[in-house]
Amino acid sequence: MPHHLVSIADLEAVEIIRILDHADAYWSLASEPIKKLTSLRGRTVINMFFENSTRTRTSFEIAAKRLSAEAINISASASSTSKGETLLDTADNLEAMFPDCIVVRHSFGGAAAMLTKEVSCAVINAGDGQHEHPTQALLDAATIRRNKGKVEGLEIAIVGDISHSRVARSNILCLAKLGARVRLVAPWTLIPRGIELIGGDLTRERVRVVTRLDEGLEGADVVMMLRVQHERFEGEAPRFPNTRELSRTFGLSERSLAYAKPDAIVMHPGPINRGVELSPQVADGPRAVILSQVSWGVAVRMAVLERAILGPEAWPAARPAAA
Ligand code: ASP
Repeated sequence: MPHHLVSIADLEAVEIIRILDHADAYWSLASEPIKKLTSLRGRTVINMFFENSTRTRTSFEIAAKRLSAEAINISASASSTSKGETLLDTADNLEAMFPDCIVVRHSFGGAAAMLTKEVSCAVINAGDGQHEHPTQALLDAATIRRNKGKVEGLEIAIVGDISHSRVARSNILCLAKLGARVRLVAPWTLIPRGIELIGGDLTRERVRVVTRLDEGLEGADVVMMLRVQHERFEGEAPRFPNTRELSRTFGLSERSLAYAKPDAIVMHPGPINRGVELSPQVADGPRAVILSQVSWGVAVRMAVLERAILGPEAWPAARPAAA
């Protein structure tokens, strides 16, 4: 039975911790001269990306190769969808070549879930529209755990375009499940009404909406900045007067970062719009862990690929670790 990964909503906290523990083991592999394991030898992973990606696609490919799987990349422009083929027909055709796992990114929220009904191999969601980006939330949790020693009990501010962000949705669920408190910080127009209920009672208790940057950052242990996803605004009424004004009121500078705890870390899923949501001083400063998030992306995706193809049963008993 494949272990799909479509949504953080489908994972219990213990399963999240198990994935993070296994990612910990793969983290140290990055500093070895030979970065190769053999657990997925002879397996085939197809990365099917219908939206742009730098970090996610590359790290899935590296992760598959580090586990000795064959990794094949297909992008929208190079696939037959640009000739009118449907997503399901494309998936059926790929399935006929017997891959072990399809990693999919698509602008349609629900694309990965739809594929799980169509194909018999494992499916991993690498971002579906505005819905979820589960591996981003897992690598974010791994980064926080490494820098703060835990996730439980931390105050985490997610700042920016919450409305269009699948990263925010996956992170809200993941961080709440791991016992953090989350503030969603943005103008009202960039926060969907009722988002704090996305995970039912759990998120109702742990998530709050704050519409001022200073209040949202006050005492935060982690500040996670989001890009304004202009590509998702098409056909919508303007949500803020202009980017400069949004940047002035909700952008993170050294001055606004001072509201957070003195040892707060700064995160961003990338791509960064320098000078918009994040000043270059903060982006390149000592408190930014943005590149470390990218490194964790490989380790976490190795764990996720192994879990999807082999199942968590193949893993040795998880080491006990703080969430
Ligand atoms: N890379 C992230 C995503 O794919 C965030 C972003 O694009 O701003 O959702």
